[in-house]
Amino acid sequence: HLAELKTLKNEASITADGHQVEIVANIGNPQDGKGALENGAEGIGLFRTEFLYMGRSDLPSEEEQFAAYKTVAEMFSQESPVVIRSLDIGGDKELPYLNLPKEMNPFLGYRAIRLCLDRTDIFKTQLRAILRASVFGNIKLMYPMIASLQELRQANQVLEEVKQELINEKVPFNPEMEVGMMIEIPAAAIIADQLAKEVDFFSIGTNDLIQYTMAADRMNEQVSYLYQPFNPAVLRLIHMVIQAAHKEGKWAGMCGEMAGHLTAIPILLGMGLDEFSMSASSVLPARSLIRKLNVSEMKNVAQKVLQMETAEEIKEYVEQEVLAKL
Ligand code: PEP
Ligand code: MG
Repeated sequence: HLAELKTLKNEASITADGHQVEIVANIGNPQDGKGALENGAEGIGLFRTEFLYMGRSDLPSEEEQFAAYKTVAEMFSQESPVVIRSLDIGGDKELPYLNLPKEMNPFLGYRAIRLCLDRTDIFKTQLRAILRASVFGNIKLMYPMIASLQELRQANQVLEEVKQELINEKVPFNPEMEVGMMIEIPAAAIIADQLAKEVDFFSIGTNDLIQYTMAADRMNEQVSYLYQPFNPAVLRLIHMVIQAAHKEGKWAGMCGEMAGHLTAIPILLGMGLDEFSMSASSVLPARSLIRKLNVSEMKNVAQKVLQMETAEEIKEYVEQEVLAKL
């Protein structure tokens, strides 16, 4: 089986009826990029940048960040996408040197884009580094934890300021760099039609989207029965987001764990998801599955599943009617 998977390393992620998608990897530092390549990832769908800021006593410099982003961009071919997510600190990831006040509900608090829009000094340094690295590959920028159109506009405004600074300094960057956002807050999923007009892409962050939709902590065992990727409410949100992106001619990806889940893939494919970003070890199994599926059939599967009432029923249906019949 392993040998069979290895033969797919350089193959396209294309369904039996000729529909092509992209399978890319999630990484947490530049070294992970190697594993992504060895496992046949077509690029990076989520480069978490928190590693640069953690385990140290001060903020990382622009040069340090630039080097890390450039390293990853250059590992892949010029066309391969490398989606860099701006700082997603907060929640469970603390930075002691920022001296932030303790919060009652850190996951609902001052974090990620919220912190970046307040501390534009930190945000701008990162955006400069990402823009400068953008001439070394197909880098795309992605904002985490956007909850409203105002936040998206504010983030884009800071990005425009940084671009202008670089232009004034005659520092090269790719002016066409795609800019997208994560959909990981239910409010963003609900207004995805409006957000889609002002981004180049969405990437659905199901790890957080599930926790916020179900009001169930992603780390808490006692409420894990609610933390369900196949919950009808979660699936409806995902479907809405993909449709909203496509209506505006934008692409939609997913970088939460769900994207690499073999039972979820047939549904996501049927809903029209364009990009699946997952841990490197899931890439080849996912490609193997996708190459056996027909997107025309999966559209019907997705439609059926969207009418179902429980996560159990949905999982069982996909397992029996799709996976078991391959
Ligand atoms: C997510 O929320 O789905 C996600 C990919 O981001 P993280 O796991 O880093 O919160
Ligand atoms: Mg998240």
